[in-house]
Amino acid sequence: MGKIVGIDLGTTNSVVGVIEAGRPIIIANSEGNRTTPSIVGFTKDKEIVIGDQARRQLVLNPKNTFYNLKRFIGCDWDELDENSISVPYNVKANDSGSIRVLSPFTEREYAPEELVSSIIRKLINDAETYLADTVDSAVITVPAYFNEAQRQATKDAAILAGIKVERILNEPTAAALSYGFEKSSSNNVLVFDLGGGTFDVSLLKISNGVFDVKATCGDTQLGGNNFDSKIVDWLAERFIKKYKIDLRRDRQALQRLTEAAEKAKCELSGLQKTKISLPFITTNDDGPLHIEETIDRKLFESLSQDLLNRLLEPVQIALNDSGWDPEDIDEVVLVGGSTRIPMVQQLVKTLVPKDPCQSVNPDEVVAIGASIQSGIISGDLRDLLLNDVTPLSLGLETIGGIMKVLIPRNTPIPVRQSDVFSTSEANQSSVVVQVRQGERPIASENKSLGKFKLSGIPPAPRGIPQVQVAFDIDANGLLEVSATDRTTGRKQTVTISGGSNLNEQEIKSIIEEAKSKANDDRKKRSVIDRKNNALTLIAQAEKRLRDASLEFGPYGAERQQRAVEVAIQDVEEYIDDDDPQELEISVSSLQEALFGLNRKFAVEKRIESNPLQGIKNTFGSIKDELFSDDYWDEDPWDNEMNSNYRNSRYRNTRDEDPWDNEYFL
Ligand code: AMP
Repeated sequence: MGKIVGIDLGTTNSVVGVIEAGRPIIIANSEGNRTTPSIVGFTKDKEIVIGDQARRQLVLNPKNTFYNLKRFIGCDWDELDENSISVPYNVKANDSGSIRVLSPFTEREYAPEELVSSIIRKLINDAETYLADTVDSAVITVPAYFNEAQRQATKDAAILAGIKVERILNEPTAAALSYGFEKSSSNNVLVFDLGGGTFDVSLLKISNGVFDVKATCGDTQLGGNNFDSKIVDWLAERFIKKYKIDLRRDRQALQRLTEAAEKAKCELSGLQKTKISLPFITTNDDGPLHIEETIDRKLFESLSQDLLNRLLEPVQIALNDSGWDPEDIDEVVLVGGSTRIPMVQQLVKTLVPKDPCQSVNPDEVVAIGASIQSGIISGDLRDLLLNDVTPLSLGLETIGGIMKVLIPRNTPIPVRQSDVFSTSEANQSSVVVQVRQGERPIASENKSLGKFKLSGIPPAPRGIPQVQVAFDIDANGLLEVSATDRTTGRKQTVTISGGSNLNEQEIKSIIEEAKSKANDDRKKRSVIDRKNNALTLIAQAEKRLRDASLEFGPYGAERQQRAVEVAIQDVEEYIDDDDPQELEISVSSLQEALFGLNRKFAVEKRIESNPLQGIKNTFGSIKDELFSDDYWDEDPWDNEMNSNYRNSRYRNTRDEDPWDNEYFL
């Protein structure tokens, strides 16, 4: 079995971690960074780019570079707010109201979970490289306030990435796991998690390794991006006043504005004011136009007042649901990059008069928690117990469009609840179970998670048949609903899986496509790697030839120099050839020739540093020295290539050494 990793799949950045020697660690990505931008793009050649590479093309290729995807996952078009869809790439609703993003380069539309799956795949690949082991499953975190559809869509994204999801874990709970890991005291903790695109607040009781979530609340369409937009709008409005041009209509300008706004926002966390300078943002009849503005913290705070108000309500609801007063809270843990904004920190202090805990890194704490959970599942970590809750009420639509709640929000999970329903008309032979999630009394105002029909109910006056509807939520917060006719025993069960808006067939074909692409990519990559390695070897060989002519003159090692020159020509001939075998043979000939030349250097060096030894060598004993381990340990050329070569060839067949005569006479 492969390893299990913990993944924080963030709106802005994603992080992967694992348990090593009983402790959680963060794994750096292939670019050497501990966080990977949650950005996916396509190049002109239809190549997919992910993370830092995708981030680099944001400004120049805004229509084919997709970020903030987490805000779309598992949502229907009409659930999105204005802010979420004001992105420089094309987002649309398909015929069934599901969200699709379009890439002009690949001429395809994608479900958000399909693109998110490539981010997961990259994190897994980087983890596999680091661990030198396969990774086949993961704990993935989601905002606590994610509904069923969003959780299911996240799970589908993992399936598309070829990964089994061991557990969907709430982000603030993961943060609390990380905070409470190895702490023996008993604490009531408030986790305030404001990331790039989502906001969560959770209240937990942590006591000797038992993590009891008491209440959770949040807003899945509120995060650092909304604060960026405030500055973008301010800049754009001022530009309209000056030049009557709305920069938000120009995709490239919008992307530059957004990046500059985010930068200014982050700077205002440490400075009182900062400059925003965007030269050549657009042109008019008078020529190029520029932005030169200064924004101060006060202005930023006044622009963001409504966002602060949106942060207040979920905290108050969570406190009410938990039954705790602010004074009952022992510790406040701030999670997510946006909690670095001073006014956000001040707001938290006005709600809970405590200095927030400084011991956690807000960027990594969620991935650390996910890794701890993966350690609990794999058995690497023991004596930790996690009791989570369901964030939103679950129920079904009854006659008249009224929501009947079966499982109220903040109920500990796993949980099973059932109730008995009847028919509304005489001789009604079937009932429709419409499952919904949300807090509104009118069913249609809550999120629909799917519906199914139970038929075959025997004729009877209205109100007589008894249909038992049961809701089961597992530890991942995923729901199964069943309806049983008590008279006939007939039963219908559905696992809610409508979240991703991708049907089974679509999921299958995306997986197939990804697999065949992966093969193509592997092939392409190995051709590029082979070519790059050959070029590196040629460069090494040319340098060594230059060293040789300085050291020995043009004829001092003529035979070896000539052999290297000929071998270089061979490699150059085959480097652009389609036949990998010919290139491989020519590369190993070059390695062989280079090895011969290096040995010439080695012998010369040996003789120079000890002339008496040189005389001795002349009479034969250097041969043994050359092949002793001590000698080669000091050899600066004893790299992997040479040592393999030495082992495979000279060590075993030294008596047949073709250079024997030359060195040892
Ligand atoms: P996360 O999802 O936790 O990676 O948080 C990303 C969000 O944090 C983005 O919106 C960033 O702009 C924001 N952020 C990161 N650093 C800072 C900072 N120093 N001040 C304000 N916001 C920040």
